[in-house]
Amino acid sequence: MTFRGGELSAADRIDTSVAHPARRYNYLLGGKDNFAADRQSGDALAAAMPTIRLAAVENRLFLQRAVRFLALHGVRQFLDIGTGIPTADNTHEVAQAIDPSARVVYVDNDPIVLAHARALLSSTPEGRTAYLDADLREPERILSHPDLRTTLDLTQPVALMLVAILHFIRDDEAPRSILNRLVAALPSGSYVVASHVTWEYLSPEVTAKLEANNHDGRFQARTTEQFAGLLDGLDLVEPGIVSVARWRADDAPQPRPSVQDVSFNGAVARVR
Ligand code: SAH
Repeated sequence: MTFRGGELSAADRIDTSVAHPARRYNYLLGGKDNFAADRQSGDALAAAMPTIRLAAVENRLFLQRAVRFLALHGVRQFLDIGTGIPTADNTHEVAQAIDPSARVVYVDNDPIVLAHARALLSSTPEGRTAYLDADLREPERILSHPDLRTTLDLTQPVALMLVAILHFIRDDEAPRSILNRLVAALPSGSYVVASHVTWEYLSPEVTAKLEANNHDGRFQARTTEQFAGLLDGLDLVEPGIVSVARWRADDAPQPRPSVQDVSFNGAVARVR
């Protein structure tokens, strides 16, 4: 675990009076690590889009299916940026259930996730996990971090996980160049796992209500085409960019929810 020298401790940086994405997502998933402001924000989103809890659950199931898929295809290293508050079946637990030697570096910029990081450090003895308190918008800091360098071998394939985080990076923050920088540090045969909220299936009325809740202007939904633009230059693994509810979900409980009810795209792509 890493604390930034000279900065406030995790507890001092936690502001419970405003909604935070990690805690709101935890609330929508049915977790208990959230405060009144997070619940109010989650309820406002649910009033606009009644299936939003289902969407959060389906996104989480996508993450787990993608980790399992890659672990079964021999990937042993994961760089999971935008980790979220630990819940059941975190990345290292899913990967280490397939190969106990799997290694995971978690990254999040929310102090509440840092405060819960102990649960993410429960590695098998054969494997290893690390947690970095860092920001996706500072890829160099992530890549050069000593804890990343001692945990991951960047000459071997890595799965870069950007699950439900890219919609917190606005266009003016250059998400494409952030991705390029991270991908450039990974060897051929690495993968990118990403999911992204899309509003393209929703009515203009629902979209307007969701947009009205984007108080800090941080959230940016993207269409399938815009999401594809972020992944351009990578080789999409079958079935390409689809609703997270449909991504390799043959074994998932049927019937699968509709793309409208989930409004979340997901993809796994291979680094050339
Ligand atoms: N990947 C998990 C959690 C998604 S919630 C899952 O899909 O289940 C989104 C997470 O991204 C939150 O924990 C939030 O704190 C984190 N996040 C948002 N912007 C970030 C940034 N710029 N840098 C690092 N983490 C960020």
